[in-house]
Amino acid sequence: MKAAVIHEHGDLDVLRVEDFETPKPGPGEVVVKVLHAGLNHLDIWVRKGRPGAPLEATHVVGSDAVGVVAAMGEGVDSPEIGEQVVVNPALSCGHCEFCRRGQQSECVTFGLIGLSRPGTFAERVAVPARNCYPMPPHLSDEEAGVLSLAYVTAWRMLMTRAQLRPGETVLIHGIGGGVALAALQFATMAGAEVFVTSSSNDKLARATSLGADHTLNYNERDVPKWIESETSGRGVDVAIDAVGAATWPLDIACVRKGGRIVLCGITTGAKAQTNLQAVYWNQLTLMGSTMGSDEDFRQMLRAVTVNKLKPVVDKVFPLEKARDAMERMETEGQFGKIALKVSD
Ligand code: ZN
Repeated sequence: MKAAVIHEHGDLDVLRVEDFETPKPGPGEVVVKVLHAGLNHLDIWVRKGRPGAPLEATHVVGSDAVGVVAAMGEGVDSPEIGEQVVVNPALSCGHCEFCRRGQQSECVTFGLIGLSRPGTFAERVAVPARNCYPMPPHLSDEEAGVLSLAYVTAWRMLMTRAQLRPGETVLIHGIGGGVALAALQFATMAGAEVFVTSSSNDKLARATSLGADHTLNYNERDVPKWIESETSGRGVDVAIDAVGAATWPLDIACVRKGGRIVLCGITTGAKAQTNLQAVYWNQLTLMGSTMGSDEDFRQMLRAVTVNKLKPVVDKVFPLEKARDAMERMETEGQFGKIALKVSD
């Protein structure tokens, strides 16, 4: 089968589409014929690797996918062959204290399809049967293929961690990325008032059409001053951050007394300044969040289905152009999710 693989860590050119051994389902697994697969920033981290950590074997990249079950392993009775499924890439042991509490993303052995086992940028991928969920019927293949990571991440941040309530105010930085757009859709769905920022007026206009109540081009005005004037000096209830170093000080400055900040990513870096005085004096709650539990994933899919939410698809590339797709994501120009079309 064809797959987008890396033989070593490195820049864009280490990603190649070539023949790779077709997987067979192990016990408790199914093999999914991948129709569409979504790109995530995680794929860039996987490709680059950690400094000084060599790649032990050829690795198939990719975590998101929608596909059709093509083979069932021992002990699997669902999903059945021919069923169309969305893959939840999160892998947990299923029996440690965190898994027993239903907090699989806190599992001590937490891993990912596309990180700790072969990924989804391939014509076939073997996955645990329990990681397969029915595809929301209102979505196209390409929409369903880009759903998993971004949507479960945004869901957990807003609903499980921040416990967002109707009427609250939410700040989302850098609208255009997958998590930010998913957070905008879920916050709007939940009846929150949403503030978004970008350096692109075009992206801000599109965010408005998706439900954003207030928009700011951060090259034109200081974000904390904007929030201060828009909220009569109060600040927002919740800040959602997938950006990291560049926006962390803004989060601290923009939330109200007793506000909540949820961080899920560090695309601009991991080291940031924190005004500790603001943290204690304003009694802030700072939360980290990584992807989601099985229950988060199930709830997220229900919310997407019931509210007929549709992921914004920026552009679809054929599998052969996986390198170009990744290049588009790395140049930060996209609005929405980038997908690979793998099979018909
Ligand atoms: Zn566990």
